[in-house]
Amino acid sequence: MPGTIWFVGAGPGDPDLITVKGRRLLEQAGAILFAGSLVDQAATQYAPPGCVIRDSKDMTLEEMTAWLVEAAGRHQTVVRLQTGDPGLYGALVEMTRPLDATGIAWKVVPGVSSAMASAAAAGETLTLPEVTQTVILTRVAGRTPMPAGEELEALAAHRTTLCLFLSITLLHEVQRALRAAGWPEDAPIVVVQKASWPGEEKVVRGTLADIKKRCQAEKIASQAMIIASPALGARDWPGIARSKLYDPAFTHRFRRAVAPADAAPASEAPQ
Ligand code: SAH
Repeated sequence: MPGTIWFVGAGPGDPDLITVKGRRLLEQAGAILFAGSLVDQAATQYAPPGCVIRDSKDMTLEEMTAWLVEAAGRHQTVVRLQTGDPGLYGALVEMTRPLDATGIAWKVVPGVSSAMASAAAAGETLTLPEVTQTVILTRVAGRTPMPAGEELEALAAHRTTLCLFLSITLLHEVQRALRAAGWPEDAPIVVVQKASWPGEEKVVRGTLADIKKRCQAEKIASQAMIIASPALGARDWPGIARSKLYDPAFTHRFRRAVAPADAAPASEAPQ
């Protein structure tokens, strides 16, 4: 019986940010194929003695599939360890389709995405009542083109929170698109490099006008998340709309209003 191949999200870099389930799988793994330097710490820290550990950075997709299939022939638990969450820019389907053809079982364990880790590093919220209630996870076109309708300029027109992956070397393009969508020059932007990496994390705060210069000054050219959001910096604002959930005037499933009730239905707890 061949083993199971687990696509495990390693989280953003700090080995403590892998899920308990992901860590347990690493501890049982006979073989681990990890995705480059971003996640090697978790692999080496939690793997049992004798586990075969391989970096995939110089492998093609075909070589990776062949490696995983071969490993599943010899071990009950094989882990493909990926940065953040495997379902975001992780080539998941490209890897699982050939596995389906072989009949080998595979499963996915989610991970903490770098988008969430970057917001956490900066002490920012991605949603804020009456400011933005939507988060768009996207990128700008590099060598991978964007599908029609997903150009940053079009997405930015919504004025919601934008988390931009794989785009740090294209900051000029991010600036162009946000300007074209009508964002003001003083719109706040945060760039986080190596979010959650102990001792290596950098948080750069700027505006649409100066974020590129600030990143250049900090020599940030890789492994960075760009967050553009009308909610950035809210902790310093003089006043913000209250979250209904904690508003004394709002009744919900777990608490009665102490003041005249809010008219909004309370079927689902808002943030
Ligand atoms: N699946 C991953 C994303 C892989 S794409 C996830 O869910 O996070 C690689 C991109 O993710 C990088 O170009 C960068 O934009 C972002 N990234 C990954 N790790 C990061 C980290 N620790 N800090 C900031 N950005 C990171």
